Amino acid sequence: MALNHRSSFCYTPLMSLREQLVGYIDSHFHLGIIESKEISASEISARMRNAGVTAGIDIGVVLDDLDERLERLRHFPGFAYSVGLYPSHADSPRISDDIADLDSALKRLIADTRLVALGEVGMDFHRSYGTPTIQRELLEAQLELARNYDLPVIIHNREADDQLHELLLQYRPRGIMHCFSSDAANMERFVELGMYISFAGNMTFKNATELKQAASRVPLDRVLFETDSPFLAPVPHRGKTNTPALVPHVYEYFADLRHMDLGELVGQVAENFSRAVPRYAGVPK
Ligand SMILES: [Zn+2]
Repeated sequence: MALNHRSSFCYTPLMSLREQLVGYIDSHFHLGIIESKEISASEISARMRNAGVTAGIDIGVVLDDLDERLERLRHFPGFAYSVGLYPSHADSPRISDDIADLDSALKRLIADTRLVALGEVGMDFHRSYGTPTIQRELLEAQLELARNYDLPVIIHNREADDQLHELLLQYRPRGIMHCFSSDAANMERFVELGMYISFAGNMTFKNATELKQAASRVPLDRVLFETDSPFLAPVPHRGKTNTPALVPHVYEYFADLRHMDLGELVGQVAENFSRAVPRYAGVPK
């Protein structure tokens, strides 16, 4: 389907999954944190509809907001969610209880097809959560859970390319490198492991030279886009509160960088998304 930025979409029940997905997809956002910036769920949802954003994943970072998140998600038909313990849990005094709680949450939710991934999990050496060893143990326990429940993982990576590569090589999960911010060489080795590379608004920032190089070389069948909203609003909204409605700017930036037709890119990302999170059931009819 030919597509213009900001066009709106209308679906009929006879469309295939691929056609249903042909809207912009935001692979990573945090609805609860956006709401805390005083943008209501109905406002977020209206902005998304107007921008043609039809699918995406509300990403978990803690467990105690789960009921609230599931309630909120009822206002976002067609959208999926993930659960996981963010690397900051390396500071938790009760890590093994946290892991046990995550295990029971997954057991309870695994029948829900809107649950499509485990995350966000990972390593963050920019903030010194716990110690590197504790961060690693926290991640390893969650890679085990991802394996047990056959879920892809959403990986947070700050200044931890080597350590993450080593663990992903060992566990070989399927998954997404969220808000990819490393260079082309690292992109290539994560792609080799089978991971999808999700680019966020920081790719549009002026000084993001290495990241732009990675984006100009990433294989097109491994690309996803995200806002990580409310953080990292893309140019020309840099510095403002981000929402999933701004993900088209990330697509446009990438389409320009790769001299691609935007409509073709939207279709390609939809295919990638259904491969990256195979449990995703699609936009409701
Ligand atoms: Zn995030």
